Amino acid sequence: MKTYQIAVIAGDGIGPEVMDQALQVLDATEQQGGFRIEREEFPWNSEYYLEHGRMMPEDGMETLKSFDAILFGAIGDARVPDEVTIWELIMPIRKQFRQYVNFRPVKSLPGIPSPLAQGEDIDFVIFRENAEGEYSDSGGRLYAGQEGEIAVQNTIMTRAGVERIARAAGRYAEERGLKKITSATKSNAVIHANKLWDEHVRRIMSEEFGGLEFEQYYVDALAAYFVQRPQTFEVVLASNLFGDILSDLGSGLVGGLGLSPSGNINPEKDYPSMFEPVHGSAPDIAGKGIANPVAQIWSAALMLEHLGEREAGGRILEAIEEVLAEGRVRTKDIGGDATTAQMGEAILLAMEKKTSVKAEG
Ligand code: NAD
Ligand code: MN
Repeated sequence: MKTYQIAVIAGDGIGPEVMDQALQVLDATEQQGGFRIEREEFPWNSEYYLEHGRMMPEDGMETLKSFDAILFGAIGDARVPDEVTIWELIMPIRKQFRQYVNFRPVKSLPGIPSPLAQGEDIDFVIFRENAEGEYSDSGGRLYAGQEGEIAVQNTIMTRAGVERIARAAGRYAEERGLKKITSATKSNAVIHANKLWDEHVRRIMSEEFGGLEFEQYYVDALAAYFVQRPQTFEVVLASNLFGDILSDLGSGLVGGLGLSPSGNINPEKDYPSMFEPVHGSAPDIAGKGIANPVAQIWSAALMLEHLGEREAGGRILEAIEEVLAEGRVRTKDIGGDATTAQMGEAILLAMEKKTSVKAEG
């Protein structure tokens, strides 16, 4: 039987709380799916840092390398600077494992109202470039504290980096039978990097994905279209900074952080990919057992799809949708009073019901 090795890093705050629920659901898919999951949990979080002076052991990356995927919770603790938690744990994984696609579904869920008047039936994905672009550690500050103080920030975009994210988006669209790719830049301003992006994305689309419709927008206009007609998008392709902003806008259109999953994907699969909720460690509600586990559970579903278990991933999402549609069990962020565990159990139950129906029929 196919066996997947999964590294689990639950992290800080609500991370372990929502991870518990995701692992239960993951274990249930195994019984239904004809595959096995072997998972190992790593206690690499802020507590670990305070004890050891580092976020992960020296050979941590080497250890992770041998896994098929990483399921990540959230990290962040008031006692440790965010630069440390993010730059010593999340960033090395994203960068060294060449997870250059940040994948975020934006999908209306049943029973979850959108803040938009016409906010139903939204269903698109964002491919955000995850490895270069505006978030490059290049530049610096001069004349600190003086009136003439300046900062220089360099955006680094490479032809190879643009081509590979464009291909990843194009392949995804083809595989899923989607029809349209939308790319966002701001190349009417004199941004050299955006001109390079536009040229090479357009070329890749016409040379390699001629069957797909392709459109390019200025990102400011696209932000308005997200609000006015979000139903018209299928695959949105954007650079690191623009993709970051558009993703949070997208998340806001369909129900917020407790419901938003993501994948940091290495499409070549030469290193493991990492799946995590968009939210952080939520210190304001940590320890209360009231965090919404849906974003974490859905992230586990994205992980299964990436591993090739599309049916099992789909079953998880169906169970989530069923529980939300029914509306009886809901955490506080989506208007109910259920605990994290109750929400997780309801999803688990919905999945188990499906299997027994299948087995009987
Ligand atoms: P956050 O996402 O942790 O919380 C923002 C708000 O959303 C809070 O009010 C929180 O209670 C609520 N929220 C988040 N997830 C929820 C859930 N599952 N259910 C219900 N409510 C939820 O963002 P923040 O407060 O800006 O950051 C807190 C810490 O997390 C910081 O240290 C930050 O650096 C870190 N962070 C980490 C990641 C990550 O691990 N990838 C991402 C974002 C923030
Ligand atoms: Mn963001």
